[in-house]
Amino acid sequence: AKQSGRNGMRFFDQGMQDSLSARARLEGEMRLALERGQFELYFQPQVDQHGCPTGAEALLRWIRPDGQSVPPSSFIPLAEETGLIVPLGRWVLEQACSRLHAWQSDAATSGLVLAINVSARQFQQPGFCGEVHEMVKRHGCNPACLKIELTEGMLLENIEETISSMRALKEIGVRFSLDDFGTGYSSLQYLKRLPLDQLKIDKSFVHDLATDSNDQAIVLTIIAMARSLKLDVIAEGVETEAQRALLERLGCHRYQGYLFGRPMTAPAFQAQLTRKAA
Ligand code: C2E
Ligand code: CA
Ligand code: CA
Ligand code: CA
Repeated sequence: AKQSGRNGMRFFDQGMQDSLSARARLEGEMRLALERGQFELYFQPQVDQHGCPTGAEALLRWIRPDGQSVPPSSFIPLAEETGLIVPLGRWVLEQACSRLHAWQSDAATSGLVLAINVSARQFQQPGFCGEVHEMVKRHGCNPACLKIELTEGMLLENIEETISSMRALKEIGVRFSLDDFGTGYSSLQYLKRLPLDQLKIDKSFVHDLATDSNDQAIVLTIIAMARSLKLDVIAEGVETEAQRALLERLGCHRYQGYLFGRPMTAPAFQAQLTRKAA
């Protein structure tokens, strides 16, 4: 028993060692990828009740040299842990401002709002507000067309600081959406203190909406909360017309999901808009 225990321990150590070096390797690769321009922003349409695009969410992709696309779920958590999310997030912001500027100089896309995801660690960097301000000015893009998606968990810690940073950014016109809404613990009491513009219904409540009465009740509650807080509400992960129709009946009139378009490259997004307009 002692023998196998020791073997077990050795095996465990080896396993930890392997996962540590796998993480170290991934971290190194991410740094190189950033230097070598292997990250790309994809754009997924957000639409109104008529199915017309009102903007897009920017979603990060890591395109390996062999063309393989690495999903953010497999690198964002490690980027957050190691702090690489700060330069990576800065790159996202830079790209977003540049894209907004391009949109604004074309009649087919001017007025579209671009939503970006900002991690807690990035948002809580001391210079964050100033950086946003500087980039918006340098790219000459309208800050009112920039929306920042934050998640609930991060807002709970340092609430006073978060509120003051949000206010400073709202002052220049930036908007805020609360992502993955319903998966955290936000109370109405606490939500009403945050200078938000929008709640985003998490896709986990949309997936079985047509058949799950619990999900219907949750979605209805979220919509009622949004209404009483005078916030806009959007649902993500809308894949079917049945889901969309039900969301509409429950009072949600903005949607994002495969039904309206997958995350796509900037030229593909532009092409879809041009097709729609024609
Ligand atoms: P998220 O912000 O909740 O983004 C929505 C995710 O749902 C995206 O996954 C999107 O591709 C996916 N999605 C969109 N429509 C549908 C649909 O109809 N059905 C289903 N099943 N999924 C749909 P993605 O692109 O893999 O991103 C995963 C997460 O990675 C994001 O979740 C976000 O938390 C994070 N992320 C992505 N880009 C960035 C970024 O630039 N910065 C930071 N900090 N996080 C990012
Ligand atoms: Ca998001
Ligand atoms: Ca989300
Ligand atoms: Ca999510």
